[in-house]
Amino acid sequence: MLIRELSVGKVIVTSLIACIIVCIIVLLLYIIFKSPFSYPYFIHYFDVSGKRGPQIDDLLDMFLISGGLADIQNHCKKIEQWKQESCQQIEHSLMKKYRRRQYLRAVDDNNAFVFYFVRSQTRYRQKNYVKSSYKVNVKTDSFMYDYEYIQQRYNDLANIGFECTLRAYHSKNQRKLATRELREKIMIRDNYTCQLCGKYMPDEVGLQIDHIIPIAKGGKTVVSNLRVLCSKCNASKSDKITV
Ligand SMILES: [Zn+2]
Repeated sequence: MLIRELSVGKVIVTSLIACIIVCIIVLLLYIIFKSPFSYPYFIHYFDVSGKRGPQIDDLLDMFLISGGLADIQNHCKKIEQWKQESCQQIEHSLMKKYRRRQYLRAVDDNNAFVFYFVRSQTRYRQKNYVKSSYKVNVKTDSFMYDYEYIQQRYNDLANIGFECTLRAYHSKNQRKLATRELREKIMIRDNYTCQLCGKYMPDEVGLQIDHIIPIAKGGKTVVSNLRVLCSKCNASKSDKITV
């Protein structure tokens, strides 16, 4: 009886040890065969809280206009560095072919630049009959681009002097883009003075914002194409181009 119990105990112990050994082997195999390559994505968040129908093209343009390309280019260097290090790692590996396949699967240049829309949302929790609010940031959309696309967009923005987003520039409705803020900006720049006759009208009454190249002739609602005119000069100008 005792011998039988002892042998049962032995069986249990041996199978336990066997189990542990198998687990360790599986873990080791997992560590050895799992991909060591993790692609370094560029990640940027746009806070679109309170914005209705935000457009990624506009936000991306604003990001580039405010100097975002430097971040993008710095990140390109990081990606290059990662590629070099990965290749060195493959060279030193005992499973070169296997590692190379894993590396190629990890490379994702077409989607290297990731942008998220994030909205701040208010949530509530209840504790001891007391309701309190807290904010959480929720990712609502994601957009992925390659470097060439961003570089092309930057070049297009450079061609229009970084004055506005590409969508605004190509908008069919240029008049709609003349916002109150833009009007104020031009008024201050031109010092409330008609740019043709030099009349100074600090109360703004009788001053108008004029498109130097008229919209009808392809002029854009951008700072460089706007100026202050008095209504008299503006009326006599009509659609002529006078500079
Ligand atoms: Zn005038």
